[in-house]
Amino acid sequence: MNIQWYPGHMAKAKRNIREDLKLVDLVIEVVDARCPESSRNPDVDSFAKDKSRILLLNKADLADKRITQKFADYYAKKGFYTMEIDARNKGSLKKLPNLIEEACQPVIEKNLKKGIKTPSIRAMVLGIPNVGKSTFINSYVGRSMAKTGNKPGVTRGNQWINVGKRLQLLDTPGITWPKFEREIVGLNLALIGSINDQIINIDELVFYLLKYLVRYYPSALIERYGDTLSGIDEAIRVFDEIGKKRGCIKKGGDIDYSKTAKIILDDFRNGRLGKITLEHTPGSTDDVVASVADALK
Ligand code: GDP
Repeated sequence: MNIQWYPGHMAKAKRNIREDLKLVDLVIEVVDARCPESSRNPDVDSFAKDKSRILLLNKADLADKRITQKFADYYAKKGFYTMEIDARNKGSLKKLPNLIEEACQPVIEKNLKKGIKTPSIRAMVLGIPNVGKSTFINSYVGRSMAKTGNKPGVTRGNQWINVGKRLQLLDTPGITWPKFEREIVGLNLALIGSINDQIINIDELVFYLLKYLVRYYPSALIERYGDTLSGIDEAIRVFDEIGKKRGCIKKGGDIDYSKTAKIILDDFRNGRLGKITLEHTPGSTDDVVASVADALK
C-alpha cells in the first residue's frame, strides 16, 4: 500500500514557513517517539540548515522506552538538542528552558557582542499533523493558546506566542511533504494518525500492523487479546482470532475485518497495546525501517 498525503493547503503553508524561518533563531521540531524518523519532515533539514535545532520526541509515554533512548542518542550525535516528552504533562517539559538556552548559546553570544543585553529568542515550532504541537505549546505556555484535536490539520496559519520575557514561539500548521520515499513512512504516519484516515485502506494498514506486532511485540498482542493468540505467528490468523474474540462476525459467519481493524487501530493509537515503537534507529543492528515493510509483504 503506497500512501501519499500532501494536500494543497500544505504547499501554501510550507511557503509561509520558509519565509518566516528568516525571523527565527531556533527550530523546535516535534516528532512522534513511536516513529521519529518517519515523522520527521525531511524538508526541514534543507530549509533550516543554519538554525539551532531542538527535536522533541513527543508521546514518549506511548513508545518503547529503550528505543526512544537510542533515538535520542542518535539525534544528539547528529547535532540536535533532544528531549523525550509527554506534551500533556507539564512536568516532562521542566528542562526545556535550559535546553533552549543551551541550543541558542551561539545566537545569545552574538547578540551580547552587539550590545543587546537581554536578547529574546525566537523559535519556530514545526511538526507534521497530530504529533502534539498544539498540546506542547499549550502545556509550555501554560494557557490554552493553540487549538488541539486528534484530527490532522486542526492548526492553521502561523501565530506568535510570548513565553515569559525572553522567548517568542511561532506556531505553524502541521505539514507533510510531497513524496514519502519509502512505503513504511506512509504506513507509520497512517498508524499514528498523521494522515487523513479517509484516504487509507484501514484493513490493509492494520494487517501490516499485525505483521509488525507478531514479529516484534507478540506479547503485547497476547496481553491485550488473550492467551489463545499465543504461538500464532501468522498475521491473518491473529486478525481472525481478534475478530472472533471481539464479536466482529458478519451474518454468514465470516470475520468482519473492517470492524476488527478499527478496534485494533484504536487500541494501538490509544496505547492500549502497551508501549510500541514502529521503527529503529537507522544503521543500527536492529534497523528494520527499510527492510520491514518489504520483508513482511
Ligand atoms: P497537532 O496536530 O500536532 O497540533 O497535535 P495535537 O496537539 O492536536 O495532539 C493530537 C492528539 O495527540 C491529541 O489527542 C492530544 O491529546 C494527543 N497528544 C499530544 N501529545 C501527547 C503525548 O505526549 N502523549 C499522548 N499519549 N498523547 C498526546
